[in-house]
Amino acid sequence: MFRRLASATFGSIMSTNLISSGTTAREKVNLRTPEVMTAVQEQVESHYRSDIVDKVRRAGGILRCGDITVRLAKQFGFCYGVERAIDLAYAARKVFKDRRLFIVGEIIHNPEVNEQISSLGIKNLMGKNKQADISELGPDDVVIVPAFGTELSIQQQIKDRGCQIVDTTCGDVMSVWKRVRKYASESATSIIHGKAEHEETKATSSRALGTGTGHYLVVLTLTDTDYVCDYIRHGGDKQAFLERFRDAHSPGFDPDLHLRTVGVANQTTMLRGETEEVQRRIRQAIVDRDGPEGATKNFRFFDTICGATQERQDALRELLDVRMNLLLVVGGYNSSNTSHLAEMGEEKLPTYFVRNASRLLSDEEILHYNLHERQEVIAKDWLPKGPIVVGITAGASCPNNLIEETLVRLYELRGISREELEAAA
Ligand code: SF4
Repeated sequence: MFRRLASATFGSIMSTNLISSGTTAREKVNLRTPEVMTAVQEQVESHYRSDIVDKVRRAGGILRCGDITVRLAKQFGFCYGVERAIDLAYAARKVFKDRRLFIVGEIIHNPEVNEQISSLGIKNLMGKNKQADISELGPDDVVIVPAFGTELSIQQQIKDRGCQIVDTTCGDVMSVWKRVRKYASESATSIIHGKAEHEETKATSSRALGTGTGHYLVVLTLTDTDYVCDYIRHGGDKQAFLERFRDAHSPGFDPDLHLRTVGVANQTTMLRGETEEVQRRIRQAIVDRDGPEGATKNFRFFDTICGATQERQDALRELLDVRMNLLLVVGGYNSSNTSHLAEMGEEKLPTYFVRNASRLLSDEEILHYNLHERQEVIAKDWLPKGPIVVGITAGASCPNNLIEETLVRLYELRGISREELEAAA
């Protein structure tokens, strides 16, 4: 993976703006000198690469050792947007050696990667692990915007402090912003399929306001969607509507006014099938209310699921066609795209969503994240005796070294050492 990353990294850095921003003109700083990039590459590889995973991948994604066969999904782990964000953060640390570095929240949704970023001395400005406040920043400080992007109001506060911004927002996220801005310019309310509290959706929602007159509504589930569709068709109790979507609509949102013309967009990491269903149901509700011609005017949509999310979902779908005893999904529990992979697995076979190898407690117990209870729970007798096939996948924010450790732990529970595994890979 990282060999491929080497060229991708240079490409992405070259096309990245290191934004000179703030109230005073800032010098442009080049993050992409060959020396910096070579050093970044070495450091990133030393933190996140896995020889075993690379070998298994080259061998078609199948590893047989003892009586466990592991099958890796064809696509898993770090996506191009995450690779780029991490590279830029490491590059910023090298280039701005003597400056204070901050980041607007988590760089990606993986605790281990965030700990690494923190160990570089990059302080978090947001969330439960906040280490500093924007009000403390000054013109000598450098602020990294993560791959999800950030809300316009936060971006403005940073600019107002005169800070240098290293913007790692993924291009696929920016495509969604472009779309919702267009909706706002056409006086269409953006209905965003996503998680209202997710950083990416918050950033997108802020763009859906357009020049200030636009509106948005965030729907997460098909039940939410049906509620909105019912209101579109028949109207209803406005207060109850606003209460249900509290914290998920724009200021001043009025369902009687702002569901007349709508455009659907989505968080880039949602399940494609579900997003398509959201679009289909909302469109049908508008057709029922306005007729097919009216719907042409009052409904629009644009599929903004990103390519990397799609590839990981497609690869897992293919893997799930193979007969397997269980599936391990590795990644951060607040990662949207990883959660969707776990949901897909659950529909087919016993699936365990684990943050890292330490969750494989023994061959009898596994500590895994239950998506429905939203907490880690212990499952017993999770590893069947005798010859088994275990599927493994990981979300776009999970580095290969964590996948390797999970794999090694799995075999260790059957008495197979890392050395034996390396020889078999
Ligand atoms: S998951 Fe998609 S949108 Fe998010 S960083 Fe990766 S490529 Fe970009």
